[in-house]
Amino acid sequence: MDHFSLRDGVLHAEDVPLPRIAQDVGTPVYVYSRATLERHARVFTEGLAGVPDKLIAFAVKANPNLAVLKVLQQAGFGADVVSGGELRRALLAGMGPEKIVFSGVGKTRAELQLGLDEGIGQFNIESREEGRELAELAAARGEQAPVCLRINPDVDARTHEKISTGKAENKFGIPLVHAREVYAELAALEGLNLRGVAVHIGSQLGDLEPLETAFGKVGQLVADLRAAGHAITHVDLGGGLGVPYKTGEVLPSPAEYGAMVARVTQDWDVHLTFEPGRVIAGNAGVLLTRVIRVKRGGNGPPFVIVDAAMNDLARPALYGAWHDFEAVTPNGERMTANIVGPICETGDTFAQDRECDALVSGDLAIFRTAGAYGATMASSYNSRGFVAEVLVDGDKFAVVAERLTADAIMSAEPVPDWL
Ligand SMILES: *Cc1c(COP(=O)(O)O)cnc(C)c1O
Repeated sequence: MDHFSLRDGVLHAEDVPLPRIAQDVGTPVYVYSRATLERHARVFTEGLAGVPDKLIAFAVKANPNLAVLKVLQQAGFGADVVSGGELRRALLAGMGPEKIVFSGVGKTRAELQLGLDEGIGQFNIESREEGRELAELAAARGEQAPVCLRINPDVDARTHEKISTGKAENKFGIPLVHAREVYAELAALEGLNLRGVAVHIGSQLGDLEPLETAFGKVGQLVADLRAAGHAITHVDLGGGLGVPYKTGEVLPSPAEYGAMVARVTQDWDVHLTFEPGRVIAGNAGVLLTRVIRVKRGGNGPPFVIVDAAMNDLARPALYGAWHDFEAVTPNGERMTANIVGPICETGDTFAQDRECDALVSGDLAIFRTAGAYGATMASSYNSRGFVAEVLVDGDKFAVVAERLTADAIMSAEPVPDWL
């Protein structure tokens, strides 16, 4: 459930009519709803009521906006970060270092060092080599880094291939067949407090079964590691729960997910970490855009050319992803159209042959479910600048990311004086 709905024929974010935001801030602009973020955080937390000892660490890469992180920090969430930049964002948003988990297959030496400097709660190590490097850095400081070993369970998450992370051919984690040996080697290193395992098999999962299969393999590994004499106190179950992108689509609820987790992990006797991203932020944001003009098609339907483009919302171009598209002031008439942006790439297409509200030049429209993996993937391709972001709270709203104009970007592009 979200807080973007029609009132008196006009789409609102909570109590704010979207045309007011378009007028004040311009378009394209991402609009987030605080009430929706808080609701999703609450529903996810309540879904895990059967798991007593846990940390919920929001996957910052889904939406790293500082104001969004602040809302989630206030909801009691920590952060799952995958770069030094994300780590600094989580800290700036007020997340306690003990609630920060550092994931990622290619953490640099400087990033590992930053994690140690800040005293973060957990490093998820993805290779023997990375474990040795972290051990060396921590030992040189007379410290023991808190570590889980990320394993690759070789499970097909049945999601888009570009967001699957838990199959043997994916770059992530230690293959299960090597996990015991690598664990034993790293556990013996002075600089590591190796205390458990982590898993994350992919994103936008529409089915709990692959997750349950992966968690079952983790449970078996925990038992094996304990039998080999290791004290396992922590397991990180990652993120991955999907969200409905199409009206009417039904996905597993956080309550169903939580019940499955509670059942599978009941005898594990460990502290569990969860890293949800999309399920928290996805439906808490829309991308508000204005129709530049409607161009007659060749053989097919007309092109509705909007002022948002693939540089603002990459998912359709990157994954062929679907986003519901609606007029802000629908008049009841419908059309079939190709929804495209202005960028000089055919890939800059949001939808083909889409039945949607009838739109003309100047109309406002939204792409729904754009709160996760939206603004965070933006680029300035075609020198379009970086899209603005707004957070709504009841009847008020604030710009939480200013539009970074082409001029601002050019001002950081010195041309050598020898040219
Ligand atoms: C991306 C990612 C997540 C979040 O995935 P969602 O599908 O957004 O829940 C969690 N953990 C890790 C390690 C990730 O890379």
